[in-house]
Amino acid sequence: MADAPAAEKQQKAIVPFLKIPANPAEKPYLQGSRCKKCGATYLGSRMACSKCFSTDAMDDVKLSDRGELHVFSIVHQSVPGVPTPYVAAIVDLPEGVSVRCNISGVEPDPKNLKFGMPVQFVAEKIRTDREGNDVIAFSFKPV
Ligand SMILES: [Zn+2]
Repeated sequence: MADAPAAEKQQKAIVPFLKIPANPAEKPYLQGSRCKKCGATYLGSRMACSKCFSTDAMDDVKLSDRGELHVFSIVHQSVPGVPTPYVAAIVDLPEGVSVRCNISGVEPDPKNLKFGMPVQFVAEKIRTDREGNDVIAFSFKPV
């Protein structure tokens, strides 16, 4: 079977809060929501604020592409098909949001990682799905 025309090929984010702008000049980013009442910010969308219990609609916000490595763990065993070792981490963003992610761009060795070190958001294609679309995932890498 012939390949689908390039125009039909899409970029699909692996999680709903990873946003890929239609304009290729704009970079992918993590989307959060901010409570209109108290300003608390969350990753992705939320129905209610867990800080002030407001159920008003929240504002969509583009989260920072820089953060700090809060905690990490080097994973040596995973499900079949997931290459190990890799670095699983929680990154804190300046908006007060914590993001579970992997750390890329560094050998998975504790000597390369430090709690509180600055990290940079990266979005990249990890595979092609059955329809030929690019599947985009994100990670953070040391700055
Ligand atoms: Zn609130």
